[in-house]
Amino acid sequence: MSLFALHLAASLGAVLTFNPPVEPSVHPGPTPVGAPPAHAAPARPTVNASEALTRLHAGHARFLTQEPLAPRQSLHRVAETAAGQHPFAAILTCSDSRVPPEILFDQGFGDLFVIRVVGNVAGADELGTLEYGVGHLGIGLIVVLGHSKCGAVTAAVDGGEAPGSIPALLKQIQPAVVRTRAAHPRAGKEELVAHAISSNVWVATESILVRSDEIARSLADNKVRVVGAIYDVSTGQIQWLGPHPRQGQLASRVRLNGGTAKVGVAQVEPATEPGHQP
Ligand SMILES: [Zn+2]
Repeated sequence: MSLFALHLAASLGAVLTFNPPVEPSVHPGPTPVGAPPAHAAPARPTVNASEALTRLHAGHARFLTQEPLAPRQSLHRVAETAAGQHPFAAILTCSDSRVPPEILFDQGFGDLFVIRVVGNVAGADELGTLEYGVGHLGIGLIVVLGHSKCGAVTAAVDGGEAPGSIPALLKQIQPAVVRTRAAHPRAGKEELVAHAISSNVWVATESILVRSDEIARSLADNKVRVVGAIYDVSTGQIQWLGPHPRQGQLASRVRLNGGTAKVGVAQVEPATEPGHQP
């Protein structure tokens, strides 16, 4: 086992120790102990993508109606999850303080595997985190969640100078800006930003599908699904975008290359505009 794997195993504990909680139980009962070792990849997610999406939809509906259960947020749940985690969905979203996944989806400790980075980009660190979630924690659903009025996307649209490490981050959003300008040459700033936010969700999704052999294979084996969504910071609503319009084509490139991704996102043709899916 590599040092990385050892560290993860030590810090995360024996994964798969608990069965997933059954919503909407706030205090699920004791769960069996005795799971595969931390490095053993699960054969199949315990909670499949369809069930995971149902849980997220239900939680978000509770949030929107202002009737949250705030499930699994007690100290009882803290103690219960101390031995290991088994989240049912991974959420790649922005660090923006207006986009807290556990609140938006009305979930608690041990439910969501959240990766937050400005602009919800999918660089090497984010991909490694997602691969750990899918390959070792058995997560069956990845949601790439962009949001309206995203400062990072706005900065990428604006261009110009930025200090420190920010340019490297904004560079990952630039493909979305290039596509948006090409597709909407007469759009004003506000409209450009709105379209670029959608496009940026697809750019991150492409990065996941094209650059991660592990996730592409899991997708082909029907072990994981990757969907896009956009959160509206003004209304609290989420627009579900569904899978990438060319998901099969993107993931198959990895398989055609014998399991080694050789195609960069910049080489991938522009995605079509996302369609709204309920
Ligand atoms: Zn943002």
